[in-house]
Amino acid sequence: MERYRSNRIYTSFSSLIATLNVSLQMVLVYFIWAVPLTITGHLVAFILAFMLTDFINGLVHMIMDHKEDYDSFYGPLVANFHLHHQTPKYTKRPIPLVYYNETGAKIWLLPFLLLILFFLTSNSFNPLVLHTLVYIGVLSSVAEVSHYLCHTSKSKTFHLLSRMGLLLSWKHHAHHHASDNTNYAFLNGMSDPLINLIARTFFTGYKTTTDQHFVNYASGSRANQR
Ligand SMILES: [Zn+2]
Ligand SMILES: [Zn+2]
Repeated sequence: MERYRSNRIYTSFSSLIATLNVSLQMVLVYFIWAVPLTITGHLVAFILAFMLTDFINGLVHMIMDHKEDYDSFYGPLVANFHLHHQTPKYTKRPIPLVYYNETGAKIWLLPFLLLILFFLTSNSFNPLVLHTLVYIGVLSSVAEVSHYLCHTSKSKTFHLLSRMGLLLSWKHHAHHHASDNTNYAFLNGMSDPLINLIARTFFTGYKTTTDQHFVNYASGSRANQR
């Protein structure tokens, strides 16, 4: 974690990823605008994308929570990611800034967006698939905002949307922080029953493994301050 904080390469790298991802999302929205699709098609694509985004991002989250190779060159980025289990990270910021900052942690999204751009410009799939892919590309960042709001928002609109199951509710997501190896999805959490099954079968949990990194880091920082 110290390497992340002290080496500007890592913080600049997150800004670079955020800029590339957000720019690519805008390019994709621009290109998809020209691909015709009926209103029903849009609705089907959006619903499909919503379910897939919740599932894919939840899976990536589960894999990342179990990564322990802190000594590798990308170790500081992994260590920084693991701090999301510690709620003080969620300081209040304007939503567009949260969208940008959190998108900077999504390294996997960059090749995914580039692949969609390739499919889109080469007309590889039918319009329904292309629209679904672009929706996933953008909703993956929206999922980060949903997670942020779940931790910080007191707004009535957000609470109504989370009660309706459209965004992540604190009641559902709190188990990820309080318990172990559970509820990784964070757009609205609808795919957690499936992800929890995968987690129980293939993963061990984070409380006694990667979460210990923060405990050691925090106690080390306090010791240094003394
Ligand atoms: Zn987590
Ligand atoms: Zn959380």
